[in-house]
Amino acid sequence: MEQGRKPAPFVSGCNESGTCQNSLGGARGLIARMEDLLEEEGLAGRIAELLPQPGLARHAFRAAVAECPNACSQPQIKDFGVIQESLPGKSGAECTKCGLCVKACREKGIILDGTGPSINFELCARCGACVRACPTGTLRPEKKGFSILVGGRLGRHPRLAVRALEMTDEEGVLLALRTAARAYIREGRPGERFGDLADRLGIGPIKEEIAAAVKTRDFNFQLNKSGGK
Ligand code: SF4
Ligand code: SF4
Ligand code: SF4
Repeated sequence: MEQGRKPAPFVSGCNESGTCQNSLGGARGLIARMEDLLEEEGLAGRIAELLPQPGLARHAFRAAVAECPNACSQPQIKDFGVIQESLPGKSGAECTKCGLCVKACREKGIILDGTGPSINFELCARCGACVRACPTGTLRPEKKGFSILVGGRLGRHPRLAVRALEMTDEEGVLLALRTAARAYIREGRPGERFGDLADRLGIGPIKEEIAAAVKTRDFNFQLNKSGGK
């Protein structure tokens, strides 16, 4: 029975123990900032106003942060998902052709030739395993960041979240979250959860507005209504 549980905004993480060797840096601080932001925006109150009946747990706004692309916190099925990623690159350090990077890559995204490693970025999942495996520093993290997914859900009509933004920084995550929360607060209709709003307005416009807000670093950005109503 769903009744009796408070439909509060909720941000889950992974790597509770802090010991996962796949972690690309830890996200406890980011999660705390995301929770503060949702509280500041008054999202829980707005969700409560829109509920068809009190306490429907499925109407909670769900967000999740994963500290690597293994995505144990399941950001793909959340209203708002964050995945920490690390794109590998090459330094000038000499490659000894040890092959450890090739073994470390589960995507078969690295080949070795006479000049050293070549990375196939079409296959790369940005997990950073090859960088961790490389003993010489030939491979290094070229860029680290957070990719953002929106509109995932389970329930009666399940749907995987759609990538809205690639490799942004922590401030970018917060801007994107604020944009998504404000869209829901302003546009949400009674009985509608964030995924339903994404259906009605279209994921495309929401993605565009998140990208625009992050690009302009505008904390007061508002989703335009042209896609809905
Ligand atoms: S998502 Fe990655 S960092 Fe987080 S617990 Fe899973 S494997 Fe570890
Ligand atoms: S980052 Fe991960 S997926 Fe990409 S090349 Fe390195 S090991 Fe392979
Ligand atoms: S792990 Fe490093 S040193 Fe070994 S083959 Fe790969 S790039 Fe070269």
